[in-house]
Amino acid sequence: MELDEFRTSLDTWLDEHADDLAPEHHGLGTLDQQMAQLAKVKRLTFEAGWMRWGWPERVGGLGGTPLLRAYLGEALTARDVVEPGIYSMTEVLAPTMIDFAAPELAATMVPRLLRGDEMWCQGFSEPGTGSNLASLSCRAARGDDGWRVTGQKVWTSLAQYAQRCVLLTRTGSLDSAHRGITALFVDMDSPGITVRPIETMHGAEEFCEVFFDDVVVPFERTLGEEGQGWLVAMNLLPYERSTSLWHRAAYLHRRLQQLLDAAPEDALDAAGVGEVAQLLYAFRARSRSTQHRLASGERLGPETSIDKVLLATTEQAVFDLAADGLAAEVAIGDDEASHRWRTEFLYSRAATIYGGSAEIQRNIIARRLLDLGSDR
Ligand SMILES: Cc1cc2nc3c(=O)[nH]c(=O)nc-3n(C[C@H](O)[C@H](O)[C@H](O)COP(=O)(O)OP(=O)(O)OC[C@H]3O[C@@H](n4cnc5c(N)ncnc54)[C@H](O)[C@@H]3O)c2cc1C
Repeated sequence: MELDEFRTSLDTWLDEHADDLAPEHHGLGTLDQQMAQLAKVKRLTFEAGWMRWGWPERVGGLGGTPLLRAYLGEALTARDVVEPGIYSMTEVLAPTMIDFAAPELAATMVPRLLRGDEMWCQGFSEPGTGSNLASLSCRAARGDDGWRVTGQKVWTSLAQYAQRCVLLTRTGSLDSAHRGITALFVDMDSPGITVRPIETMHGAEEFCEVFFDDVVVPFERTLGEEGQGWLVAMNLLPYERSTSLWHRAAYLHRRLQQLLDAAPEDALDAAGVGEVAQLLYAFRARSRSTQHRLASGERLGPETSIDKVLLATTEQAVFDLAADGLAAEVAIGDDEASHRWRTEFLYSRAATIYGGSAEIQRNIIARRLLDLGSDR
């Protein structure tokens, strides 16, 4: 299907099914409510075919350009039907499964994620390993019945809801750095896994500590080859910094408009509003070209760090402006709208951390794109 036709037909369908798609909760809702809403919207859009466009037929998709799924996410987040952060996990993890899982495994699992039957999580960061991912130490050793995994992950978003985890493990020697990492696709109900949610500063238990105690993972759940985990991670991270960010920006456009509607007259400085609008449109222009490069089959790489820096700056600018324009509401308001502005203001502080910190993105831009110094 062509993008223009997809847009028009999808918009009509979304209008016609607005009541079915609407959340049952008011306002932002709890994380439990957001997750239930996400599963509902994915099921409805999958059954109607929309969620399947832009994904390969071999994993239950209907084919077509990835621009189709970029538009679906844009339309759903701009209409406030799904929360963009939790919606984006599909964009982050499904492409990795398609590229690296055995074909039968991808064909079985990806439709479950698209249809909203399952949630998956990303087990990369560890207590001693965030920016320096190549130093991870969660160990997988070869056993008779499969890999035996022991170690800990942290900041694993939505692990308490997840049925599966894309997990990076150390299979080489401790000093093997990025050469000794292997990616596994792990069932979260395997014996030996303990998930402990962590409360964020905005009061939601959005991410978790995950402990692995001699967990058996079948060899056929290896993503790519043994020792190729770094390649899997480097393939995944650009997805985390491309289509997902396009969806997030659509949501930020909506919030800026709502801020302009809600802020008292004279509470917002026109130049400040102009700067935020400029950031939003600059991001959109950048991300649009990223979506088109993805659609033309280009493999995304370190240049997506530019998208990440721009999005993080924009997100914080939108909610900084909200803190100016709705100062009392953001600080102490106790109605639903104030709670939402405050939550999103606090959450926007994480934009320069999740998916790779702003400093690390700038290092990548300097070293890998501008050739200013070396990683080694
Ligand atoms: C909301 C949220 C959700 C997340 N979800 C997940 C998830 O689902 N799965 C997952 O695996 N992880 C997740 N993370 C973790 C995230 O990827 C890490 O927090 C991030 O990569 C930074 O790592 P760190 O926290 O260990 O900080 P550190 O690496 O310890 O960095 C601390 C500070 O030092 C700076 N710094 C570090 N090294 C350098 C350097 N070489 N040069 C300049 N500055 C440097 C960093 O920029 C940062 O400001 C999430 C984080 C957040 C906030």
